[in-house]
Amino acid sequence: MEYRSTRGGPPVTVEQAIMSGTAADGGLYVPSALPALSVADFAGCESFAEVAARFLQPFLAASSLEGPLAAICREALDFPIPVRPVESGLAVLELFHGPTAAFKDVGARFLAAAMSRILQGGRHGRPPVTILVATSGDTGGAVAAAFHGRPGLRVVVLFPEGRVSPRQQHQLTCWGGNVTSLAVRGEFDDCQRLVKAAFANAALARSHSLCSANSINVGRLLPQAAYYARTSLDHFRQTGQRTSFVIPTGNLGNAFACVWARHVGLPIDRIVLATNANTTVEDYLATGQWLPRPTVATLASAMDVGNPSNMERLRSLCGDDAARVREEVSAVAVSDDEIRATIQDEYRRSGSVICPHTATGFFAYRRLPAAERAHRHWVVVATAHAAKFDTIVEPLLGTTIEPPAELARLLRLPARFETIQPGLEELAAWLGDGTGHG
Ligand SMILES: *Cc1c(COP(=O)(O)O)cnc(C)c1O
Repeated sequence: MEYRSTRGGPPVTVEQAIMSGTAADGGLYVPSALPALSVADFAGCESFAEVAARFLQPFLAASSLEGPLAAICREALDFPIPVRPVESGLAVLELFHGPTAAFKDVGARFLAAAMSRILQGGRHGRPPVTILVATSGDTGGAVAAAFHGRPGLRVVVLFPEGRVSPRQQHQLTCWGGNVTSLAVRGEFDDCQRLVKAAFANAALARSHSLCSANSINVGRLLPQAAYYARTSLDHFRQTGQRTSFVIPTGNLGNAFACVWARHVGLPIDRIVLATNANTTVEDYLATGQWLPRPTVATLASAMDVGNPSNMERLRSLCGDDAARVREEVSAVAVSDDEIRATIQDEYRRSGSVICPHTATGFFAYRRLPAAERAHRHWVVVATAHAAKFDTIVEPLLGTTIEPPAELARLLRLPARFETIQPGLEELAAWLGDGTGHG
């Protein structure tokens, strides 16, 4: 399978697409042509890892990753991803049972396993590849957890000082070893600017073999399509009915993976995007005009994105035709007040304890026309465990939330980080020998 930038240009291999993250022309990599699979092609695939390997095989065909694909899936996708029934016609897809309790574990773990294979062989005696990542919260923890301890790879995480939740910060800073955590005196945008400046500095990028692991990397996007495949297959096998998804959305990585899964041929019906008060996507669907805007801070902070980059993939898939994008997805924007009310309502209704991101999904589901709810099978995607956002959820419910075992273990580890100014010289010094002392 060949990959191309959404902006055209020459084809690249999947290995090149994974290792470079973004295309040189600023576009995003997509397969040259989407493969086609039917339900029958998944005969005999039961576990998540088996379904994932079957789904991903044509995307990795004729690459060095095709042979080890089954092993990569078993290694990376080794935690439960249950579908929990809520009420008649509604279930929740719980994506938060991985090491850092958010769906980003799926993509980050697959990416780490794939990159390790790509680097095996060719790099003996060379300096390690440095994964440089800016995070507003969940990405950095998932990437650090996934790459921690992997030979030939190190991770440098930049996060905005004082702007991530205390538990998120702990997950960014508890690793040591090949993971360096830097608190940047500034905002997430400053972290992102620093990362971009580092990649743009050819000497720095070359001497550290800088590599990106951000959410637009196809190596993170593709495995996310696999849980939509598995969930819709299971329901179809039992009932002959397709599944509709409501997906909490920021940068559209999670949701776009679902669009791919449906195009490939999985039995997926409607896709509803739930956003927070960052309404760029909803406004685009309403007006047909793409007007990115500054980010608004909300309770669902991992979805605070004013210029969702994966929208470029969706628009490219639809020939940049807003009418065709509307056939693919609809969107509902949810305010902070509605997030708070939904967290309380769902707890009262069913005892469900949901995070602020997942709450946008429940809100969007409850807002669907009654006929839409009655005639389709709906799955709301739960993107993080509520215990990660305890400071928001606990006061609303008047109860304490036990962190899941793996998160609890991480929270007991000692944390360490350094604080830097948002300038390239200081970052370069830290990249110098990985300790900051050289
Ligand atoms: C990253 C994240 C999102 C948004 O996912 P996108 O792929 O950016 O749309 C939603 N919820 C949680 C908990 C996240 O960490």
